[in-house]
Amino acid sequence: MGRISEEDVARVRDATDLVALINETTPLRQKGRLFWGLCPFHGEKTASFKVDPATQLWHCFGCALGGDAFGFVMKTQNMDFPDVVRMLAERAGVEIVEESGPAMPQGRKERLVAASEAAAEVFHKTLSSGKDAGAQAARAYLAGRGFGSEVAKRWRLGYASGARGALAKALAAEGFARDELIEANLALADDRGDMKDRFFNRLMFPIADLQGRVIAFGGRVIGEGQPKYLNSSDTPIFHKSANMYGIDRAKSAIVSTGTALVVEGYTDVIAMHEAGFTNAVATLGTALTARHIKLLGRFAKRIVYLFDGDEAGMRAADRAAEFLDSTSTPEAGSARLDLLVSVIPDGMDPADYVAAHGAEDMKAVVAGAQPLLRFVIDRRIDAHDLATPEGRSRALADAAGVLASVRGSLLAQDYAAHVADRLRTDYATVDAAARAARPAFDGRSAREAGEDAAPPRAVVVRSSDPGQAGAEVELARVLAVAPHLRAQVRDLLDIDGSFSDPGMEMLVREIVDAGDASGAALFEAVARRDGDAAQRLSAYLVDALEPAAAEARFSEVLDRLMEFALKRELSRLQIEMRSKQSAGDRAGDDELFRKAADVQRRLAQLRASRQTGR
Ligand SMILES: [Zn+2]
Repeated sequence: MGRISEEDVARVRDATDLVALINETTPLRQKGRLFWGLCPFHGEKTASFKVDPATQLWHCFGCALGGDAFGFVMKTQNMDFPDVVRMLAERAGVEIVEESGPAMPQGRKERLVAASEAAAEVFHKTLSSGKDAGAQAARAYLAGRGFGSEVAKRWRLGYASGARGALAKALAAEGFARDELIEANLALADDRGDMKDRFFNRLMFPIADLQGRVIAFGGRVIGEGQPKYLNSSDTPIFHKSANMYGIDRAKSAIVSTGTALVVEGYTDVIAMHEAGFTNAVATLGTALTARHIKLLGRFAKRIVYLFDGDEAGMRAADRAAEFLDSTSTPEAGSARLDLLVSVIPDGMDPADYVAAHGAEDMKAVVAGAQPLLRFVIDRRIDAHDLATPEGRSRALADAAGVLASVRGSLLAQDYAAHVADRLRTDYATVDAAARAARPAFDGRSAREAGEDAAPPRAVVVRSSDPGQAGAEVELARVLAVAPHLRAQVRDLLDIDGSFSDPGMEMLVREIVDAGDASGAALFEAVARRDGDAAQRLSAYLVDALEPAAAEARFSEVLDRLMEFALKRELSRLQIEMRSKQSAGDRAGDDELFRKAADVQRRLAQLRASRQTGR
């Protein structure tokens, strides 16, 4: 058994009649263009499961599951993708050729992930309890940035001493083979073939994939040494131009806010999250690439790029303009992704700024973001002395190149007017210059560099149910006065993006983390960590529920939120599946389907337990 080619998969799909296939197990009735039936994935009495013969796709409007023929069989018969293709091929009489297997043996990637996870544990232990000077210096460095041991724990920060191959030895003792460590870029073989650790005397930031599994590391040197930051090289499980630091923790907040904040450093991401900006991510020592934008576009409608105010940050802004093409113009319609930029004032980086000025000021910086196109145009104009006719003419030529990059778009007209305004000339002059100019960039250079040509796809961000926000407030009010119920909320908090309001989620987490503190002690505990959350909390403590009333409402509220959370998790998984499917990426499909089925099961349990009125 080998790999099945995309062509064969497509032939099988084309040869399969979805309506007939589904009708074998789920009776369907035609209603207009669509076929309707009772959903096989959730119990229902009126049909909300629909099959579209035109697109050969199905969707349940009750439980929000959906997919193609392969997905349907995988879900209903619990088969994996290759087996489903083989089965449907046989059924449709299509012959498929199985190619010899992929270079990476089955399970190999999982081994590399396991090795990286194990390395993160070793690094973290060394950081938290290492006695040597290096570990102490790493702790001191973190403390100097305002990151205590709680933060280090939350972010699984670590320290690589590198001394005498400490990591390689520890991982060998855990059963990892030499070539696995080398392939995961955790160790290097020297000239004589001896192993040495890849990271030496560095503070370690584990880099995770979307599922939160460690796949690589960023290492910051402690004290003197070059380079200041060292990242894992690309490996079979890690590609720095396609991964982002913090994406696993940020994705649900990105979906719920519709906005991704892109910063430049690991510590910036941590500082932003700790300050409540849980939708922040960072690139990994590279400029923003088309693949990053594509990744973020799966979750966000807007990307706000926060630049350090230094010269390097400004250059990064110019580079980002490479992506100003059809994807950010209004004509891109639903695929439109807005790219905005904001420069951190006073030449600070985001971590310094939020430490010095607080979350409120940072909010203002984010809110003040302006469209990347205008930012780049203004920067080009500002580079010239507008007091002289020569300066103005050079500024016009410079700006015209940017306008030429979005020629023909409504945006070009808007910004031509903006340029005319700034240069105190008329629209026709600017328009003529733009027509004559060569595009300053058209996104092609990024593509020619071997990056993804497919435009980013903006995901549909569902507006959250108004009932959910109400239930979230209710839960916080209940927990505020009922410490003994707090532990029961952990399951809910474990679900990514379970809250529609990230601020409320933060508050509930803080309340749960506060253990059995109540009243003023609770407020204190929360206020020490999160001023915004404490403010909300104060209302629920002043206008407090009667403990008996709180107790009476608790299970209903928790069940409702659990249901919201699971439904949301389900749509998130579907978005991920759809986006992978449209990208032709089948890696990890099984796991996604498994996760979706698991969520589905939990939802069903929840509904059943509610009906029996436990
Ligand atoms: Zn359903």
